[in-house]
Amino acid sequence: MRQIVGKEKGLVFNIQRFSLHDGPGIRTTVFLKGCPLKCVWCANPESQYPLPQLSVQDSHCTACGKCREVCPEKAISFTKNKRRRVVWKKCRLCFQCVNVCAQDALTVIGREETLDDVAGVVEKDRHFYASSGGGVTLSGGEPLMQPEFAISMLARFQDMGLHTVLDTCGHVPPEILHAALSHVDLVLFDIKTLDADLHRKYTGVGNDLIRENAELTAGLVRTWFRIPLIAGFNDSIDEIRRVAKMACSL
Ligand code: SF4
Ligand code: SF4
Repeated sequence: MRQIVGKEKGLVFNIQRFSLHDGPGIRTTVFLKGCPLKCVWCANPESQYPLPQLSVQDSHCTACGKCREVCPEKAISFTKNKRRRVVWKKCRLCFQCVNVCAQDALTVIGREETLDDVAGVVEKDRHFYASSGGGVTLSGGEPLMQPEFAISMLARFQDMGLHTVLDTCGHVPPEILHAALSHVDLVLFDIKTLDADLHRKYTGVGNDLIRENAELTAGLVRTWFRIPLIAGFNDSIDEIRRVAKMACSL
């Protein structure tokens, strides 16, 4: 069995304060980067890749040319109309261009953060958590794609005395999920569909492991099953009834 060792640093996609839909009350949601699923409807597709990425916002660019000057790979050029272009096959993701762009026209998706960094942000809204019955939610991507960092973070939140929620797609090794569950008060467990073929077609993976982990989770921790309702995919009454029946049986 894999040994899970704590980790002080990890790749954070976003930290969202005043979240109202990621568990009870007012919460801070910490999104980690990387996901084993590739859902075609994903609201945050930039969270899927498990490494930092360069993001370009053309509308912010003033064509000052500073990024081209510092790029060691000559991966940035300008069109005759002064539109900045990144030649992706040359880009080595060094992010030197990001450091010189004053317009935020080039940014990094996914920053390495320490437990202390994250805990510092989470701590700021402690009064809101206390007055609303809220707390902190660890989400993604799939947070358990970074198991050592995610479990260390959940343990840290518990040490801070906060109500702690894990938001998971369920497609993770059971021993990792089991280790994480000992540090959470509530799990938000996504069920996309119970139809294995449809699940594979629209998320890239089957759902056997997810169904096994749903049972494991509900047997150990308070669990809310959630269905991301996608028109024409899983929004029929029959499908919702099937998921509800499965959830009630656990
Ligand atoms: S540094 Fe920023 S604003 Fe200047 S050309 Fe590059 S992307 Fe545009
Ligand atoms: S990330 Fe590095 S290699 Fe890629 S465009 Fe920016 S400076 Fe060039």
